[in-house]
Amino acid sequence: ATGLIAFLGLGHMGGPMAANLIKAGHEVVGYDPVPAAVEAAVAHGIPMADTAADAVRGAAVVLTMLPSGKHVLDAYRGVGGPGLLSVAPPDTLFLDCSTINVDEAREAASLAVAAGHRSVDAPVSGGVVGAEAGTLTFMVGALPGDFETVKPILELMGKRIVHCGDHGAGQAAKVCNNMILGVSMIAVAEAFVLGEKLGLTHQALFDVASNASGQCWALTTNCPVPGPVPTSPANRDYQPGFAGALMAKDLRLAVNALESTGVAAEMGPLASRIYDAFAAGEGAARDFSGIITDIREKSQS
Ligand code: NAD
Repeated sequence: ATGLIAFLGLGHMGGPMAANLIKAGHEVVGYDPVPAAVEAAVAHGIPMADTAADAVRGAAVVLTMLPSGKHVLDAYRGVGGPGLLSVAPPDTLFLDCSTINVDEAREAASLAVAAGHRSVDAPVSGGVVGAEAGTLTFMVGALPGDFETVKPILELMGKRIVHCGDHGAGQAAKVCNNMILGVSMIAVAEAFVLGEKLGLTHQALFDVASNASGQCWALTTNCPVPGPVPTSPANRDYQPGFAGALMAKDLRLAVNALESTGVAAEMGPLASRIYDAFAAGEGAARDFSGIITDIREKSQS
C-alpha cells in the first residue's frame, strides 16, 4: 500500500534488508554505485536502477542504508548534480536507516522538509545476522504520522520498532545505547583480566557477576572469554559479531554528540580512544569483545 521503495545502499546490511522487503511482496528498486553490491542484489532478486535518480523518480519512500552521514547528506543534496531531494516526487518519505551523527540526522530532516518531503531516521541494531533474519531493532525518530507510515515497512525487516521521538531521536537513542555498550565491554574485559591476575577462574567470576550487580549484556551475551557463554564471539576466536571498526565508529558519533551538547563525560571519550586504537589494527575486523586480548597483552609484566 506504501508504493515503490527506492533502496539506496545494498551493502552488508542493506542487501539482506532489501531482500526481506522483496520477499514480503513489496515493490523495490535498488541503487548502489559498487558493482559487487549490484551483483549480490540482483542475485537476491532485487531490481536495480542504473542511477540513484532513476531509482528515486517514481518512489514513495527513499530508504538509505549508507556508510556515514556525509554519504546521506551528499546524496540528499547532490554532488555535482541534482540531489535526491530535488529528483523525488513531492511529499516523498525519506527514511534513513544508516547510523549517523544526531546533528547530521536533524540536518537531513530539515533539508528534506524544506524540499517538501517527509523525513524519518531509523538506525538499527542487530547486525548482519539480524538483517538477514528480519529481526532488527529499529530506533525511530519521526513525526507521529510518519511513524505510522514507516512502521509496517520496518516490521518486514525487524521485530522491534521503537518510536523514540521526533527527527534525530532514533540516532540519539542508538548513540546513547552504544556508548553504554562500549564502556561496559571495556569494564567487563578489564574485570576478567583482573580476575585472572587474582587467580579467579573465568567461570567463577561469571557465575558471581552474571547473577549480581555486575550483570550486563557485555558479560551475559557477548562474554569476552570463551566458556561461560558458548555462543559469544570469544568461543570462535573473536570473529564478529559486532566488529571493532563499527564500535569505533559508533563511539566517535557518541563523542560528537557529547561535544555538541556539552556533557561532562569522561567514560565515553575514553572508550572512544580505546576502540580507535583497537580498530587501527587487526581489531577492526574482530569482534569488539576482542579488546580483552589487548588488555591482557598490556598487562604482562
Ligand atoms: P556497507 O559499507 O557494507 O554498505 C554501504 C553501501 O552503501 C555500500 O554498498 C556502498 O557502495 C553504498 N553506497 C555508498 N554511497 C552510496 C550512494 N550515494 N547511493 C547508494 N549507495 C551508496 O555498510 P553496512 O555494514 O551495510 O552498514 C550500513 C550502515 O548501517 C552504516 O551506517 C553502519 O554503521 C550501520 N550499521 C551496520 C551494522 C553492521 O553490523 N554492519 C549494524 C548496525 C548498523
